Amino acid sequence: MPRALVIGAGIGGLTAAIALKRTGWDVSVCERAPELREVGAGITLWTNAVKVLRKLGVGEAVESVAAPIKTSELRSWRGKLLVRADFGSLGERLGAPCIGIHRADLQAKLADALGHENIQFGMTCVAYNRDEKGANALFAEGDDLRGQILVGADGIKSLVRNQLLGPQPTRYAGYTAWRGVAMIDRPEVPVGVTVLAMGRGSQVGMLPIGGGRTYWFATANVPAEGVAGSGGHRADLLKRFADWWPAFPAAVEATPEAAIIRNDIIDRPPVRKWTDGRVVLLGDAAHPTTPNLGQGACQAIESGYVLAKCLKEAETADAGLLAYEQSRFDRTAQITNESWQLGKMFAYENRLKCWFRDRLFGLLGGMSLRHTEKIIGVEV
Ligand SMILES: Cc1cc2nc3c(=O)[nH]c(=O)nc-3n(C[C@H](O)[C@H](O)[C@H](O)COP(=O)(O)OP(=O)(O)OC[C@H]3O[C@@H](n4cnc5c(N)ncnc54)[C@H](O)[C@@H]3O)c2cc1C
Repeated sequence: MPRALVIGAGIGGLTAAIALKRTGWDVSVCERAPELREVGAGITLWTNAVKVLRKLGVGEAVESVAAPIKTSELRSWRGKLLVRADFGSLGERLGAPCIGIHRADLQAKLADALGHENIQFGMTCVAYNRDEKGANALFAEGDDLRGQILVGADGIKSLVRNQLLGPQPTRYAGYTAWRGVAMIDRPEVPVGVTVLAMGRGSQVGMLPIGGGRTYWFATANVPAEGVAGSGGHRADLLKRFADWWPAFPAAVEATPEAAIIRNDIIDRPPVRKWTDGRVVLLGDAAHPTTPNLGQGACQAIESGYVLAKCLKEAETADAGLLAYEQSRFDRTAQITNESWQLGKMFAYENRLKCWFRDRLFGLLGGMSLRHTEKIIGVEV
């Protein structure tokens, strides 16, 4: 049985590992963290990703700990409704729902589906060596593992990418994000509704992620801090968003201080080269995007599935890796570029531009739903 080494047990690495295992590979996932950690609050998985998870046989388990998103609302910063979209009907028409889920729940279900014996923790990849028949991953802990393929699913600051493409800086979007999860029960945030509110230089969002929990996020145009951090942000957020749509500060208030995390929002301009012989990039290591379309993890899930499919259909592993690289570039590049542009509009500070943007979003509501359908209706 050929062996695949996957570096990184994030959403992309775990999905790729499941897909590869299902198509006959012996898979080892090597993760630098000592265990699967509860990181990153909540996440939206759109129809395109839910469909892939169902094909991999993980859909039921994942959906059982998630909340379906029935309605999406776009509001002004004061809470005035601009557009309401029926995501329930859209999901029915496309054949799978959009869901909100806690990242820890998603990772746990993926790890269960893969089999915990396939994941090795406390393994920090520091370099790889490759030849015509495979690649070796070298680890800070002293191990040296070999696979017929090596999948770099080690995130936006990927070590594997760094070696494969050479060092390249990430691109700061100009805004930072705070995230948290709260147990709140307020009439403004009914179950099944996801809300995005836009203001001057900031946006906030809230959505249900199952178990009575609400995931929230906020952004603001501030200088990059370089490192992610948690704790110490609540007072600043409550001050910054004090006069916004009241459900938002209420959610921040209901979140434990230490559970609020902050990240600079970064991505990288799309590049076409994701392979170096038997070494291949996947997820944020290959096609990182800003979160404005909520598609980063969804694309990582798609890529994991397509990688295994291409390898299965190709005559050689080399041909399969190249087919994967070619088939994924256009879609992921389009999402990275659109998400970047959308983020620029959300970050407008000029009063007139914001007024115009809010009216435009209100007027084009139906059109933007059709555009969303084009992105999430794609079946890989
Ligand atoms: C604020 C915000 C909101 C978002 N919201 C959404 C959303 O709603 N929907 C959506 O689809 N996407 C969203 N995303 C994007 C999504 O989080 C990422 O696209 C997704 O997590 C990428 O998964 P990944 O597995 O490629 O990388 P990661 O999740 O970064 O996982 C990489 C893994 O590799 C490990 N690792 C790193 N280096 C090494 C090494 N040298 N050796 C071994 N292991 C290593 C890490 O510890 C980690 O476990 C959001 C992102 C942000 C910042």
